Amino acid sequence: MTGKPKNFPLSLASLDDKSRRQAGSAPPAATRPAVATPQTATRNAAVNGAARSAPLSASPSKAHNNLAARSAYGTPPAAAPARPAMPGPMPAAADGGRHPQVSQAVRRAMVNRVAAQGVQDKVVLAAMEAVQRHLFMEPALSGQAYIDASLPIGHHQTISQPYIVARMIEVMRNGTDLRRVLEIGTGCGYQAAVLSCVAQEVYSIERIKPLHELAKSNLRPMRIPNLRLHYGDGMLGLAQAAPFDGIILACAGMEVPQALLDQLAIGGRLVAPVGGRHQVLQLFERSGKAEWTSTTLENCHFVPLRPGIV
Ligand code: SAH
Repeated sequence: MTGKPKNFPLSLASLDDKSRRQAGSAPPAATRPAVATPQTATRNAAVNGAARSAPLSASPSKAHNNLAARSAYGTPPAAAPARPAMPGPMPAAADGGRHPQVSQAVRRAMVNRVAAQGVQDKVVLAAMEAVQRHLFMEPALSGQAYIDASLPIGHHQTISQPYIVARMIEVMRNGTDLRRVLEIGTGCGYQAAVLSCVAQEVYSIERIKPLHELAKSNLRPMRIPNLRLHYGDGMLGLAQAAPFDGIILACAGMEVPQALLDQLAIGGRLVAPVGGRHQVLQLFERSGKAEWTSTTLENCHFVPLRPGIV
């Protein structure tokens, strides 16, 4: 790692497509029965409209214990702990009172549902419990923030389903402490916030300018010093910050761009949805300078990976 605090954040890189990929496929693992799709996000919002009155209770005792207080994140990357300290929840007051307060019990119930679907990594589950998903949504959708569904965030994009967020991070982490991680597709910034709890440095790229701005305004009150947002085409990766121990794509392409595979550290893990109408979650592991292996994990459905910026 060459990054020093004064070089952080870094600007976007240009494509560096040198080596070739050698990806073999392992047999598919368990196929998940229910797949939440971006297309169902709007329906989720409508069908679950009644859930707006879901338990949203005040939790004043937690008000002091907020993400803004995560001083452990502020240390220079080289001196940072193996894994940042777990954040506590951020009080609704920190976002100017736009959102209702949601008790930790509500988040814990969501995490229990995620765990019941098979996510076992306690570090990931704790991060999911710490980040207040409703603060990344329109206040009108707050009542649905802790159901296990993708929901609309505007610009035909979605906030990912909690289960899949947790699952991808679990697969990428593989029980190890991650140093530098890249996310393609910031969207509203939710997964980036979760990632900031499990990795020392997180970079996230979004191609739609208003969503990049939305993520910035969602994340600003949380003051997460180990997270850097970039506006640009994530298909090019972020060569200045590479190599990455882990890369997550929150959008699906027909294949994973070679630039991203090239920016993976040897031993690093990339998790991505791959496909069109039918998508599968795939894990790519870089085993050598020009060697990658791939494993198909389960069915999934994400919004598409698109080139360029808008
Ligand atoms: N990470 C989000 C999910 C965002 S949805 C969460 O926390 O829930 C996927 C996002 O990927 C969309 O915002 C879409 O605009 C973005 N995207 C698609 N192609 C991209 C590209 N080439 N570079 C960066 N972002 C891209």
